[in-house]
Amino acid sequence: MKIDSHLHISYLGEKKKNLFDVKKELLESMKQFGIDYSIAIPDNVPNPQCADTETMFKIIGDDKQFFSMGTVNIFQDIKKQILNLESLIKAKKICAIKLFPGHDPFYPTDERCHLIYTLCVKHDIPVVFHTGANTGDTDCAKYNDPKYIVEIAEKYKTLKIVISHFFWPKMEYCYEITKNLKNIYYDTSAMADPEVVEATGGWDEVVQILKKTVLLKPDNVLFGTDWPMCPVDKHIQLIKDLKLDTKTEEKIFFLNAINLYKLEIL
Ligand SMILES: [Zn+2]
Repeated sequence: MKIDSHLHISYLGEKKKNLFDVKKELLESMKQFGIDYSIAIPDNVPNPQCADTETMFKIIGDDKQFFSMGTVNIFQDIKKQILNLESLIKAKKICAIKLFPGHDPFYPTDERCHLIYTLCVKHDIPVVFHTGANTGDTDCAKYNDPKYIVEIAEKYKTLKIVISHFFWPKMEYCYEITKNLKNIYYDTSAMADPEVVEATGGWDEVVQILKKTVLLKPDNVLFGTDWPMCPVDKHIQLIKDLKLDTKTEEKIFFLNAINLYKLEIL
């Protein structure tokens, strides 16, 4: 079994597409690559090219192959959003909350984020952080430096935190600074993307960093692809190239996601 724990219902390029057609493409891709379930992450602002929370629920409907995260725009009424997120958590419609420091100009240590962390702790659901550079913009990574995430992980010991994109291109730094924190997890989204691999120092470098992470924290690494931005086949290859024993490989491909996001599928 495989669970893609990080993707978006979105499309690339100028040509306008209906997001319901994007879902069809996604289902075809999942079939092609043997992915049984996917966790979709909405955009936190209205965006015709990427489903926001409301649009995502409409597109996913009752389809049992999909799970979703919630998200927040911290520049808008945060208390109102928290109430909405709490009702979605109680209704089991979201399995985590995604924050976008770097896409948005705020730090994980921002005062406004603490309400979100408290909510996640209360309901025992993870917070997921976008990290690393963006294409053509390395400066934005100052907002999601894992040193801030470590601060949050130390302050909220029962908060489960997922780092997406391993703070590329500084993956080695990300590993070193976060490795001893049991409540920090990683999804592999974007790690096998050619641009990310090149900027990080090559395929073997990425494999080596991810492998030592898995060996140290076998329950804390989750397969994710960042579809449609990144190629699914290369992300599967990345996990295969770790040359893990079957049990550990199953953890990465699906068991850790089931446990962390409490997915009701087994
Ligand atoms: Zn993403």
